[in-house]
Amino acid sequence: MESSVGHNCGLFGIYNVPDASAKTFLGLFALQHRGQESAGIVTSDGKKVRSKKGMGLVTEVFQKADLEELPGHIAIGHVRYSTTGSSRVVNIQPLVVDYSQGLMAVAHNGNLVNARTLRDEYEAFGSIFQTSTDSEVIVHLMAYPEHAGRKDCLGHCLRLIKGAYSFLFMTRDSLIGARDPQGFRPLVLGRITTPGQLGSIGEGYVLASETCALDQVGARLVREVEPGEIVTINSEGVHSEYFVPPKESKPAHCIFEHVYFSRPDSMVFGDNVHAVRIRLGAQLAIEQPAAADVVFSVPDSGNSAALGFARQSGIPLDYGFIRNHYVGRSFIKPNQLERETVVDMKINPVRSVIEGKRVVVVEDSLVRGTTFRKQAKILRQAGAREVHLRISCPPIRHGCFYGIDFPDPANLAVNAYKDVEGVRDFLGIDSLGYLSVEGLKKAVSKPGDAYCTACWTGKYPVAPTDHMDKFGMEKC
Ligand code: SF4
Repeated sequence: MESSVGHNCGLFGIYNVPDASAKTFLGLFALQHRGQESAGIVTSDGKKVRSKKGMGLVTEVFQKADLEELPGHIAIGHVRYSTTGSSRVVNIQPLVVDYSQGLMAVAHNGNLVNARTLRDEYEAFGSIFQTSTDSEVIVHLMAYPEHAGRKDCLGHCLRLIKGAYSFLFMTRDSLIGARDPQGFRPLVLGRITTPGQLGSIGEGYVLASETCALDQVGARLVREVEPGEIVTINSEGVHSEYFVPPKESKPAHCIFEHVYFSRPDSMVFGDNVHAVRIRLGAQLAIEQPAAADVVFSVPDSGNSAALGFARQSGIPLDYGFIRNHYVGRSFIKPNQLERETVVDMKINPVRSVIEGKRVVVVEDSLVRGTTFRKQAKILRQAGAREVHLRISCPPIRHGCFYGIDFPDPANLAVNAYKDVEGVRDFLGIDSLGYLSVEGLKKAVSKPGDAYCTACWTGKYPVAPTDHMDKFGMEKC
């Protein structure tokens, strides 16, 4: 994946472990790929709620002493990538609010498509918003007197919001997870055997965006939080309820989680991401074969697909690019010049693998094309005889309303350069091939219509009701 694409956010929550803040730190560290701009942890010891948040990576925000100042057996944490560039401290999550029902912390992954409309409505009722994030809307809905008094307050308010959301909520004595009826973003429930604070339960629970975070803290996967489900964890155990009945929820899982966003070691929407990417690469080799001497990936996100392509095609897999892991992910850099400098710093060719060869490079996706254009030049300079690029997803043509910040559609490569041949010409390579939408769906195990593919097809599972100006309200 190239620069200029805004990422998701990552969620981690834990219940009934003595060192909840330390475990949350580890969980967020495992989810760092989902957001590098800011991090926050909120804890509860049953009486007092404490929080620490800051700009930067998890390891930059939290030192050992910070975690010691966050005692408690319940915690939620959040890593964030701001999609607007307005890196405001006030927007760092989890948000903590004190309202008529008590203290509550909220962390959100996704993007609401009617947040602006709801915000205008509730501001007219007198609500005063503190942040510019869409996530805050749920807090005001829950605090609104007509809603706050309801037994099903949370479910009622979730039914009022539209779009993509995996939420974590924490009160003084409970941890709650909820997922939108389409299940756009992942959210899993895990169990941890660390001795608990509450002897009557004896086991701890974890809610996290991806299973790699469960592994990091020694928790085991129980199951996904289902689309339209609220999972409440408290001293009485784990309680599940549906605010939208399973029969009425229409899953539209973001298939891009498999293509690029999630970690390969995670289980997402019931599939291992690495295994899906291998299948994407194999299908790509069937649909878009190339006569070549060697295949390699643009590390790291193209690695699994390159393996699948090599296995299917019989072309030897090698390491053509070496990545410098000490350079941050390039999209963190705010301007194009800085981003391009980072490409040079990040990737270096292995001349002995490339020189005199016809190379197939497998990449997970192509957005603007500017990054690979530079990489293609690097390959030519390293002596590549032919450069063939294979992309393990279809051409991205449309924007995303559900939490991913693609550039303006006019700047997406296939739109900017008219068609695939135009993109190939812009990149200066010998051939270019994309996976088909059908091929993409073949690689995942649920029926194809259970996934969102809108950035390729333009078929949006939930129509945006707001004017979706990405600078209007921030997504997460
Ligand atoms: S539009 Fe694309 S990135 Fe956005 S949720 Fe759908 S598949 Fe994922």
